[in-house]
Amino acid sequence: MDPVSPGVVRELIARHGFRIKKSLGQNFLIDGNIIRKIVDAVEPGPADTVVEIGPGLGALTRSLATKAGQVLAVEIDRNLIPVLEETMAGLDNVHIVESDALKTDFDNLVKSSTSDAGVFKYKIAANLPYYITTPLIMHLLEKHSSINRIVVMVQEEVARRITARPDTPEYGALTVAVNFYAHTEIVFRVPRTVFIPRPEVDSAVVRLQVRDTPVPMKDKNIFFALVRAAFQQRRKTLLNAVGGTDKRLTKEMWLSVFQQADIEPGRRGETLSLVEFARLADAYADASADLPKINS
Ligand code: SAM
Repeated sequence: MDPVSPGVVRELIARHGFRIKKSLGQNFLIDGNIIRKIVDAVEPGPADTVVEIGPGLGALTRSLATKAGQVLAVEIDRNLIPVLEETMAGLDNVHIVESDALKTDFDNLVKSSTSDAGVFKYKIAANLPYYITTPLIMHLLEKHSSINRIVVMVQEEVARRITARPDTPEYGALTVAVNFYAHTEIVFRVPRTVFIPRPEVDSAVVRLQVRDTPVPMKDKNIFFALVRAAFQQRRKTLLNAVGGTDKRLTKEMWLSVFQQADIEPGRRGETLSLVEFARLADAYADASADLPKINS
């Protein structure tokens, strides 16, 4: 049974006595056209494993399963498992996993689902529960090396932040963090009218194509510390925002870090591109390499 039309969704929910939980971000898609467009953005092939996070009633899951080699559908709500077993009946390439996505090691999950012990890559697809959007995207990018593409529906405002250009109000630490790991783009916008129940905001589907080679830099931890410092105090100049983070360096030393990085110290952090942040982090790494360690 394809749980896409409003009638089928209502009938399934009623027959299973299912109570929709706002606390789990449960807004179910009821538009076949949107589902097709999400699947097109994922581009699942017969050799692909796709992990779907939060399959809900299975609307997207079914469409993914018709094109992918296998779909692992990870759902936290135990009350949805019997519904999914019904809507996935007859699709033997779908495996339903009851688990909290924030605590799931997806590389391990996929590895244990295939007999191929060699190098493996997989894709993630999700209409994300909004309450965990940012931590979940960072969990996927930071802790999983075998994901090559993530296609997720998020609040439109988050989609804009993820894909923002420097020197715009949406550009921030989230933009830099996600783009450090992946090329990002908004694929299309989704009005709030295509869900039951209807959410309070519009959404957008973003595609994160994980970088084959990381952005070159000497020390990722230094880079992220600088990015955090720059955006924690957006209104300050870089020299003031970043210069305060390491008292071992005098003002003159910081000025020469900026000079080496070829970045004007009077600029604000929100104007720096990812590559400029990397250059600044490298210059700071060089300047601090021989200094006594900071006691923490
Ligand atoms: N994919 C379905 C659709 O498009 O109609 C449902 C999407 S709904 C926005 C989000 C889904 O994620 C719900 O089924 C919810 O129960 C599930 N969910 C919420 N938190 C989760 C978590 N931490 N781990 C896994 N699934 C979660």
